Amino acid sequence: MIRVLVPRECRPGETRVAATPETVRRLSARGCLLHVEQGAGAASGFDDAAYGEAGAQLIDPATVAAEHWSKADVVLAVQAGSIAQQRRELEALRPGSLLLGLLEPHGNDSLKQQLEQQRLTAMALELLPRISRAQTMDVLSSQANIAGYKAVLLASAALDRYVPMLMTAAGTIQPARALILGAGVAGLQALATARRLGAVAYVSDVRAAAKEQVESLGGRFIDPPELEQKPGETGGYAQQATEDFLAAQRRQLTEQLALADMVICTAQVPGRPAPRLIDDAMLQHMRPGSVVVDLAVAQGGNCEGSQPGTTVLRHGVQLIGADQLPCSVANHASALYARNVAALLEHLLEASGSEPTALQLDLEDPIVSGCLFTHHAMAGGAA
Ligand code: NAD
Repeated sequence: MIRVLVPRECRPGETRVAATPETVRRLSARGCLLHVEQGAGAASGFDDAAYGEAGAQLIDPATVAAEHWSKADVVLAVQAGSIAQQRRELEALRPGSLLLGLLEPHGNDSLKQQLEQQRLTAMALELLPRISRAQTMDVLSSQANIAGYKAVLLASAALDRYVPMLMTAAGTIQPARALILGAGVAGLQALATARRLGAVAYVSDVRAAAKEQVESLGGRFIDPPELEQKPGETGGYAQQATEDFLAAQRRQLTEQLALADMVICTAQVPGRPAPRLIDDAMLQHMRPGSVVVDLAVAQGGNCEGSQPGTTVLRHGVQLIGADQLPCSVANHASALYARNVAALLEHLLEASGSEPTALQLDLEDPIVSGCLFTHHAMAGGAA
């Protein structure tokens, strides 16, 4: 039987949980024994009683924690990197035990070193390959979807205008104009949400495939500047743009920004600082009262001056630094995250034979090799 531990999250502001009563039932049916720390789901609306009814054993972190950590085969977490760095109980895990969650793996050498020293196996969900087989496990997509949706709601609530077109006795109100930078998962959901609210939406991306997706959702695509050094693509992701290209893009976007009521910034390049698409001079040309929501703020931001977790007023424009939006939709964000993680764990269980007593990792499997951050054999002969 595989023992799975679900700890309480410890990063400030983190409200999600890596397993819900639904996924506890699902994993129990696959032969796992679930241990959930008391209060783990409290911030996302899942109480201890519901976990108990679903078949989990609740553990009191104050008393018996180390004993449970020492028996765990798998630890499921959201902010797994913070748990590794802040929970002392991690030292009790046996070599080869699997830590599964978000690890912020790009360039995170100190975490890697720590996990290596403890001889733990860790899977970074940020590195999961974007292949069809792995879609049900894709936490970046499920969480980016939420962020794109919520960003438009925040912008609409902060805006000094209506979003839809309205014909009133006092005259006609024109629809708000949304500008969305980046047409990945978050950007496309922001587009769909803005359209549902009645906005006219313009979308910029550097990937050619984005144009059709934007147009199919009723958005108007802004073609990238025609320059030789246009950034290429790897595995569906944009590559880093040159400074000359970004300067040309900023010139192109200045006019669009001056017409926009809300700007949703989602442009990112994995493992790199976010492209700077709006500078201070461009903000000066925007209409006072307009709103910029910067989802890329944790990676340096698409917009100059945006600050993580706070709203800044600059030249009359509200800059909302939205770094943790999925946490503001904690119940559904957890429900989807937990399903993604359960799907990945089920995939690992399938490869470990019937009634496994330890997980066997198939290093030839692109889903496993793609997101393996550290790997050590489980004591007792398992992979
Ligand atoms: P991301 O968060 O890394 O980036 C968001 C968007 O920013 C991307 O569309 C990127 O092209 C864009 N961008 C980068 N530099 C830019 C610039 N200078 N100007 C404007 N836009 C810029 O991307 P993501 O949302 O994680 O999605 C990346 C890709 O993966 C997309 O092609 C998406 O369709 C694909 N995807 C595939 C699957 C699957 O097949 N399972 C699942 C999810 C996403």
